Amino acid sequence: MDSELFDVIIIGSGIGGLVTATQLAAKGAKVIVFESYLIPGGSAGYFQSQGYTFDVGASMIFGMGNKGTTNLLTRALDAVNVNLETIPDSVQIHYHLPNGLDLKIDRDYETFLQNLIAYFPDEAKGIRRFYDECQKVFNCLNNIELLSLEEPKYLLRVFLKNPLACLGLAKYLPLNVGEVARKYIQDPQLLKFIDIECYCWSVVPANMTPMINAGMVFSDRHYGGVNYPKGGVGKIAEKLVTGLAQFGGEIQYQARVTKIITKQGKAVGVQLANGQVYYGKKIVSNATRWDTFTKLLPVQEIPVKEKNWQQRYIKSPSFLSLHIGVKASVLPVGTECHHILLTDWQEMTTATGTIFVSIPTLLDPDLAPPGYHIIHAFTPDWISNWQGLSESEYADKKEIAAGQIIDRLETIFPGLDAGLDYLEIGTPRTHRRFLQRIDGTYGPIPKRKLWGLLGMPFNRTVIPNLYCVGDSTFPGQGLNAVAFSGFACAHRIGVDLQLRK
Ligand SMILES: Cc1cc2nc3c(=O)[nH]c(=O)nc-3n(C[C@H](O)[C@H](O)[C@H](O)COP(=O)(O)OP(=O)(O)OC[C@H]3O[C@@H](n4cnc5c(N)ncnc54)[C@H](O)[C@@H]3O)c2cc1C
Repeated sequence: MDSELFDVIIIGSGIGGLVTATQLAAKGAKVIVFESYLIPGGSAGYFQSQGYTFDVGASMIFGMGNKGTTNLLTRALDAVNVNLETIPDSVQIHYHLPNGLDLKIDRDYETFLQNLIAYFPDEAKGIRRFYDECQKVFNCLNNIELLSLEEPKYLLRVFLKNPLACLGLAKYLPLNVGEVARKYIQDPQLLKFIDIECYCWSVVPANMTPMINAGMVFSDRHYGGVNYPKGGVGKIAEKLVTGLAQFGGEIQYQARVTKIITKQGKAVGVQLANGQVYYGKKIVSNATRWDTFTKLLPVQEIPVKEKNWQQRYIKSPSFLSLHIGVKASVLPVGTECHHILLTDWQEMTTATGTIFVSIPTLLDPDLAPPGYHIIHAFTPDWISNWQGLSESEYADKKEIAAGQIIDRLETIFPGLDAGLDYLEIGTPRTHRRFLQRIDGTYGPIPKRKLWGLLGMPFNRTVIPNLYCVGDSTFPGQGLNAVAFSGFACAHRIGVDLQLRK
């Protein structure tokens, strides 16, 4: 059966899974990826309908810059000799917030600071000190090669090469943004603004958002910048798959893994829904940790360490998503690609309270027919709000919910309803079904205030030869973050398999 023994089997082709796969293939490992859906990418995938190409999830992309060490998506593509044209976005987000706080996050750091200071002149010093401190975190990260923190030799090597950066990171690892922001800032409205700056990617307020992640997001947007992949976000995964094949790796679609096979407590292989069995020296799950330990392994045998993790982290809500095709004339000249809309601070973290908007056709018009734009509007929502409905109740509820979102969007895009050409509504059930994510969750969030990132698990699990990768491993959600997790996972496995390259 030697011909069937893979070095590494990867369950899922999200960006975390694909970065692990390509990194290992490039190191000479025999790799196979099983993906349950028709295309790669998971939450960074796409769908096409009536001439529109929609990103299913992510569209504000970090990590595609061309300098430093934190541009992990660029690095992952380079590692397998593929590249992707990107389009720089000059504004990360246009915020439409309570009390008339209408602010664009400019790519240029000074411009951003001045725009924010114009709203809070009394906090000018504090604003600068807070964001400068975020830059310090970023500078530490951006000075070291980002690999597995579970590999002692690497840690020693990095420490000897750059002790100050490492000590800096160790200092920030247990901190959350809220405590740092409160050192410098008093104005409650400004602290609310810092909350939404965190919430829009961590889905928790500043006091629960790790400082390390904030250091990345709040600084990289002014360094490598936000860059949109030409052809849509789905191109990242497609290119990684091309690179994987070039290095001898394989991927199978419509290949849902139903079971991780263990022998004497060690992971040895996987079984697919069609009954086929594959064996590997190392098994990597790109499914969420909840899916991995409750669906792919016997639920009654969840390791204590995982149970403890589930005590600290809970599933974040999923999303209600509207994929809209709209007449170009609806969008005023100068409209930005990404928007966040919130009318009442009290509602920031409640279901459907905050609306996120992406209009990638403003950067890449080829994603829609001429004269039209795509708008992806999404808002956090719980699966429990969408369960126990008959087919017609579900359809009606979708229509009503979509109507309410469109009404709210009319405040920034008057005429949106009249200009609609296409509308596809996705609920948490849709996210669960197509992305294979339990309850359609966006990923883990701390149950209560934790010590920064210290509680997030790395790639190894307590089951020998089983690794996890993706957003329920260190350092969390976001494409660049899961790429980091992929680099780390592949590095650890490379050492464990004694791969030479
Ligand atoms: C609406 C939305 C908007 C977002 N916006 C942004 C953004 O603007 N910027 C950003 O950086 N991030 C954004 N994110 C987050 C980002 O998309 C995710 O954090 C990231 O893509 C997760 O990657 P992953 O590798 O962990 O796994 P996933 O993307 O979840 O991929 C896992 C893959 O594994 C497959 N799989 C699971 N179980 C099995 C199985 N048993 N057998 C076979 N295959 C399986 C799934 O089908 C899927 O393809 C957004 C997410 C959503 C949902």
